[in-house]
Amino acid sequence: MIAKNLFITTGLLVSIASSAQNVTADTPEKTEVWSPVPKVVTPANNNNAPSDAIVLFDGKNLDEWVSTNNIKMPAAWKVDDGILTVDKTKGNIQTKKLFSDYQLHIEWRVPANIAGTGQARGNSGLFLASTGGGDAGYEMQILDSYQNATYVNGQAASIYKQFAPLVNASRKPGEWQVYDVIWTAPRFNEDGSLKSAARVTAFHNGVLVQNNVELKGETRYIGTPYYKKHGACPIKLQAHGDKSEPLSFRNIWIREL
Ligand code: MG
Repeated sequence: MIAKNLFITTGLLVSIASSAQNVTADTPEKTEVWSPVPKVVTPANNNNAPSDAIVLFDGKNLDEWVSTNNIKMPAAWKVDDGILTVDKTKGNIQTKKLFSDYQLHIEWRVPANIAGTGQARGNSGLFLASTGGGDAGYEMQILDSYQNATYVNGQAASIYKQFAPLVNASRKPGEWQVYDVIWTAPRFNEDGSLKSAARVTAFHNGVLVQNNVELKGETRYIGTPYYKKHGACPIKLQAHGDKSEPLSFRNIWIREL
């Protein structure tokens, strides 16, 4: 009886193995996928927006932005000669539109005459999702980190107080720098508990600096990060209160995923 069962089992395994072999021995066409056909997107030169991007700043105006202090008020930073410059007296600015998952491109420049040290040297920030006023949300740090020591999870391209960048790809003050970020928004259950954490992949000047990191929660200056349920959010730029010369931005675009 045992021998017979063994025989049956073995026979079954042989037949499963041979059918698996049949699949792999199929024609190459069997594993070709022809639809749905990916949408055609026209790429652009010089880091400009591809055809399916939403342009958040094209050098002309701040029509896509509002003041974080009062979202009924226009964003009041300076636009001049295609460049947006922080006005620290006006506070943070944020997008009118709300976003969930996206790919974002943003260029920023620390002024050549930057002074100060550590966190007080060209500090701004890219809030990947702004969950409220002030500095609420998830901050990717913007800072002069060219030969400027600070805590590593607070240097340029860090997820502030959570993840140091994999490398320091900073350019000198006065030179334009680029962040390309892929943001996967966190998901929440009905009861407010976390279903899946936010994830970030980011490139700084074309160099991978965050590789699909899972955020521990919203950025917290003091204490341990944690999540609070939210939906789609604006993207926010920081007017940091340090005394150094303000940063500039240009060429900001986003592709919703
Ligand atoms: Mg900052």
